[in-house]
Amino acid sequence: MNRSTWIATLGVFGLALALPAVAQTVKVTPLGGFDGEFCAQDRALVFEDPNGTRVLYDPGRSVLGGADPRLRKIDVILVTHMHGDHLGNAHAKGMNEGTCGNPDMSVSDMPNSNAVNIALAKKSKIVTGSEMPPFFAAKLKANGGNPADSMLARFGGSVTVGGVRIATVTAMHSNGLDPDYIGGELGKAMKEAGIAGDVGLPTGYVLRFSNGLTAYLSGDTGITADQELVVRNHYHAKLAVMNIGDGFTTGPAEAAYVMNELVQPASVIPSHANEAGTVGGKARPGSKTEAFMKAAKMPVHIPLSGKTMEFDAAGKCTAGC
Ligand SMILES: [Zn+2]
Repeated sequence: MNRSTWIATLGVFGLALALPAVAQTVKVTPLGGFDGEFCAQDRALVFEDPNGTRVLYDPGRSVLGGADPRLRKIDVILVTHMHGDHLGNAHAKGMNEGTCGNPDMSVSDMPNSNAVNIALAKKSKIVTGSEMPPFFAAKLKANGGNPADSMLARFGGSVTVGGVRIATVTAMHSNGLDPDYIGGELGKAMKEAGIAGDVGLPTGYVLRFSNGLTAYLSGDTGITADQELVVRNHYHAKLAVMNIGDGFTTGPAEAAYVMNELVQPASVIPSHANEAGTVGGKARPGSKTEAFMKAAKMPVHIPLSGKTMEFDAAGKCTAGC
């Protein structure tokens, strides 16, 4: 090594020492149905803790089963409730199939569900609240998985998996289990009577990551007092994933009220729009997604499929937004 190379090497080394430690961020990657867009069936998000733990939220119908290469390692699966667009009664036959407003969902996942099939493929834990864990334990057991991988975090309690603390919070919605997951004579009789299975209340989640970021994942919900009393005042959520689709959950105006007045996070990711939310990666004019963006007072980051966003402990997006 000659003298000038040696000096240059020392210079680079000195610069590296002088730089502050890179802030640890939580990476959020939407696994939607259409590359770079936010579409009608999109719910699934992967949260990656700075320590590498990967959490899949509401796989729904846009994750292409357990073999979807976008999943990579999945340590934990969260399912807010049993409706087919969250648990995954079916999924698309591939990426970009159908239209953004009406995506393909031609591959059936009955009677296991997309969530259970992914858990079996990835040997993931499934953390749910209410009375949902025994359902998942039974499905895992029936398919050669480990029933102990289905873990409970009921309202007010929490479990920590891979350094991520997981709590459930109230969601004002419904949670009937489609009798097709039950099958047999009982499932058939229930179906004919129009009665769903009872697996307790639906939930939302609050996650606390190892960098200190706390995130509220609303699930399907209306406006609840707990969004202020519990999610803001107790957990101090700085990032929110808020469902905006209307009809089944809060619409754009109600979701904006929840964000602006009750939860007051630093950033919000809209979810569950039940529409083509974007065209070319931008909010579609006249969409619910656009209405929510206009009504929310904090930065709104649209979950574009495959585009990873990074959030610091304060809930600020530091990359990818
Ligand atoms: Zn629902």
